[in-house]
Amino acid sequence: MSERLINGLHHVTALASNPQRNVDFYTGILGLRFIKKTINFDAPDVYHLYYGDEAGSPGTIMTFFPYVGIPKGRKGTGQLTYTAFTIDQGALSFWMDRLAAFNIPFEGPKQRFEEKYLTFEDFDGLGVELVAVANDPRQGWANDIIPAEFAVKGFHTVTLHEASADRTVQLLTEQMQHKLIAEEAGRFRFEAGQGGGGNYVDVLYVPNSVKGLQGAGTVHHVAFSTENDETQLAIREKVLSMGFQATPVIDRNYFHSIYFREPGNILFEIATNPPGFTVDETLEQLGSKLQLPPWQEPNRGKIEQILDPIEPKVWAAPQR
Ligand code: ZN
Repeated sequence: MSERLINGLHHVTALASNPQRNVDFYTGILGLRFIKKTINFDAPDVYHLYYGDEAGSPGTIMTFFPYVGIPKGRKGTGQLTYTAFTIDQGALSFWMDRLAAFNIPFEGPKQRFEEKYLTFEDFDGLGVELVAVANDPRQGWANDIIPAEFAVKGFHTVTLHEASADRTVQLLTEQMQHKLIAEEAGRFRFEAGQGGGGNYVDVLYVPNSVKGLQGAGTVHHVAFSTENDETQLAIREKVLSMGFQATPVIDRNYFHSIYFREPGNILFEIATNPPGFTVDETLEQLGSKLQLPPWQEPNRGKIEQILDPIEPKVWAAPQR
């Protein structure tokens, strides 16, 4: 058995149009912990906001670049269109009530691969799903408003919308250590690492679908988890050997990253699990203060002036 180079999902990064509205949805309504307030390292006048479980564990991390006022994108091929999170089976009616209480339109419960799920969109139109499962041992983040039994636990699946799927499937199975575990109505489910929630990728083969357009409410990239710098270099060699243009390793402060485009044009990243989000603040303090990478620290005054303040807070559902 060859060495495990890919564990499953690490994070998903998407585009948003308003930082506070973004926080309102993911912490206010979904109850994810706000784990890091930093900047887009490639565009320091834009926030990079991170949400996750208590510690921001790989496989729970949803992140956003909120470019203020950018136009809405369009879902379509060449995109990751839906990010699914796990909830406990017993939490389904809690979430139907909670979404309804906040006037978030949703479809479902529907059923896929024998699991019930809800489909909806965030305030920018980003596709989100909650999948009710029987046996996901992950804890999510319990808080005053959403107790542990109802908490969102982390990722379940990401759905890749592909106009042609063969080469993407080949990349996932031959280079990225995923295996096909199920198929239903043009949806092919792949599993990595130890399997289960946070380790699924669905390739949805939709040859006649419109092409996606990047903008608010669309995913920028999906990152897969690798154990350390050595396994990252090994997986980089593998994708290079297949002819993909992988970047050199880039220091993202909380993880080290390489990027390449898969054959369907979705941007893939491979991110190391260490060092993680406690590299610059304690577990208790995660998300409480604007964190800058060391090379931007001299510009803190200017950056803090440009960015609008945001307030993350889990909302109590309005009484109906
Ligand atoms: Zn990333």
